[in-house]
Amino acid sequence: MRQGGTPKYDPIPIGEVAQPPFVRLPDPLAMFARRAARLRGLADGHQLRSYLLFLADLCDTQHGIQSGLPEAELPAGDAIARARQFRMPPLDRLRFTRDEALDAVRQRLLAVADRIAMPDNARLALERIRTADLALEAAMIGAVLENAIPVEALAEHVFVAAVLQVHFARLASQLDPKTLVPIGEGVCPACGGPPVSSMVVGWSGAHSTRFCACSLCGAMWNYPRIKCTLCGATQGIAYQEIAGEPVTVKAETCESCRGYVKILHQNNDPLVDPLADDAATLALDLLVRELGYRRGAVNPFLLGY
Ligand SMILES: [Zn+2]
Ligand SMILES: [Zn+2]
Repeated sequence: MRQGGTPKYDPIPIGEVAQPPFVRLPDPLAMFARRAARLRGLADGHQLRSYLLFLADLCDTQHGIQSGLPEAELPAGDAIARARQFRMPPLDRLRFTRDEALDAVRQRLLAVADRIAMPDNARLALERIRTADLALEAAMIGAVLENAIPVEALAEHVFVAAVLQVHFARLASQLDPKTLVPIGEGVCPACGGPPVSSMVVGWSGAHSTRFCACSLCGAMWNYPRIKCTLCGATQGIAYQEIAGEPVTVKAETCESCRGYVKILHQNNDPLVDPLADDAATLALDLLVRELGYRRGAVNPFLLGY
């Protein structure tokens, strides 16, 4: 492992001045399909091959069930305005109530997921969700939304998180990005979620700027480079990477909070995906954890973490 390289900005191409938007809302009709393709690409020759292929099938399912779903209904306009006034996310996950749109996503996803090849423990978990009563299901939804997934039930929550990702991405895609304001360090301005990772993007007009990616709704929000995405510290930031690997993914560590979040470099690989590349770099988590840093990002698809 190489440690603590001097942070450097990538050069911005001459003639291009980066003017990043504050937030880029998800496109649920593209995001999950792209992620599935990325997971398939990453699975090739990977130690976690069968798991990454399972995730790819799950993301394909997230994509495929969307046509003809009931409209996901945003909170009322005055509630969104009030949230903005008090610097709260408009999609309040702590006051979440299920509705017809969520139920339809759940029903379709669990039915289609049944056709995915998966190990026995995942199939048993899927069966437990399908037969869960309302109280148990509400508890599982609450655990995902509160980032408190119990370690003994990770397999169940992969499916519950997959349902909620579709639902929240559909909600977030309807927000007006101009109405969103910064909520706080490491908090999605759309749904209040933590980042799954951050990404230095190669987007036209925003080249080499950084965005945090929400683990739930998929929104991406602009964030300075070389600044802890968890506590906002700008000193004591370093980057860890696995020696010999292409430097598409690094861990940004912070001495102030002793946390880390991965940072992806789209300039080095245009297909990079905030969730897929995080899930496929578990080895980096294990190395950084050995150095004594705590994982600050949330990814319900990260195996056994
Ligand atoms: Zn979000
Ligand atoms: Zn920090």
